[in-house]
Amino acid sequence: ATVLLKEPSPYGKLTTGNFEVRRSTKVPTEADLGPNQIAVHTRYISIDPYLRMRMSGTDGPYATGYRVGSPITSFGVGDVVASRHPDYPQGCQITTSANPWSTYAIYDLSDPQLVAALQLTKLEGPLADVPLNWHVGVLGMPSFTAWYGLLEIGKPKAGETLVVSAASGAVGQAVVQLGKSLGLRVVAAAGTDEKVAYLKDTLKADAAFNYKKVDDYTKTLKELCPKGIDIYFDNIGGEFLDAVLANVNRCARIAACGAISQYQKDEGQTYGVKNLMSVVGNEVTFQGFIILFHYQTHYVKFVEDITKRVKDGKFNYKLDITKGIENAPQTMVDMMEGRNFGKTVVEG
Ligand code: NDP
Repeated sequence: ATVLLKEPSPYGKLTTGNFEVRRSTKVPTEADLGPNQIAVHTRYISIDPYLRMRMSGTDGPYATGYRVGSPITSFGVGDVVASRHPDYPQGCQITTSANPWSTYAIYDLSDPQLVAALQLTKLEGPLADVPLNWHVGVLGMPSFTAWYGLLEIGKPKAGETLVVSAASGAVGQAVVQLGKSLGLRVVAAAGTDEKVAYLKDTLKADAAFNYKKVDDYTKTLKELCPKGIDIYFDNIGGEFLDAVLANVNRCARIAACGAISQYQKDEGQTYGVKNLMSVVGNEVTFQGFIILFHYQTHYVKFVEDITKRVKDGKFNYKLDITKGIENAPQTMVDMMEGRNFGKTVVEG
């Protein structure tokens, strides 16, 4: 199957009606390939919130929009099943940031600039030495986002208080564990009781709560962070960010990672943050980042650090796997509404 954008969705909730699923049973062979082309069987694709912005169909500062009738693409990993490129023989495996939501994909590797733009990498050395789904999981883009955002922007010091939102998800679960390993007091928020239990029992967050069952975020954060908030890893933006701003300590750091609570608002309905003067008064560092810009400088170090932690049994990473590329649209819709538990991936 191949999933294409049928109808852009600039505002409101995404539905499966925004996509077209084309079914095909054809397996590409070498005869289908031009010089320097490879055919890849998609094994896993990563389903991520930033794709929601691309599904608006328009280009933004964050990412370019998908075009109507074009395949949706995202991070993925797969097996080379046919090849006319000497460096990527049949049987090797690749990962790319632009894997079409398609059971089979053909990539033209004639132009090195295009290969770089696709972040197309052959799995070899330490990258070949780990389970395949790690490339969309514990070594994937969201886990790297957690690692970079917490260490480089959060600048954590043992004993400080860290608040994490969307804490059981792809980014959040990694932030919580890294925070604990660095000696922080970790306070985590998530949207179901099951997620909250996982945060407390498995990831050992010091406190966790179901934000959907709380009337007053400011009061709850005050109770759970008696010494104030030093670091906020912001995955959701909106009203929760306002409540954090009401509880921050002097020189707190906010890693502005995302604002998923706002991605599906109707036109003109995004939340206006009210407590921004707290950034001034408390000398808060409020820093956004886009992880794509930090691969070259930090990805190798991240892989070394996280691989060691996992192999030492000190890092869990929960995947939420749906089988079948044809189910990617529903999986994306569900993830945007919190019906995932862990990192959302689709198995091809
Ligand atoms: P998750 O795996 O956490 O999945 C999304 C989760 O968001 C849902 O499970 C749900 O969890 C939560 N959510 C959905 N709607 C709302 C809402 N209205 N209010 C609060 N929470 C909501 O996603 P990721 O970990 O992949 O991404 C988390 C954030 O990180 C996103 O904002 C994303 O855009 C951002 N990001 C940024 C990157 C960067 O480079 N800056 C890179 C990667 C991700 P729950 O049930 O707990 O509500």
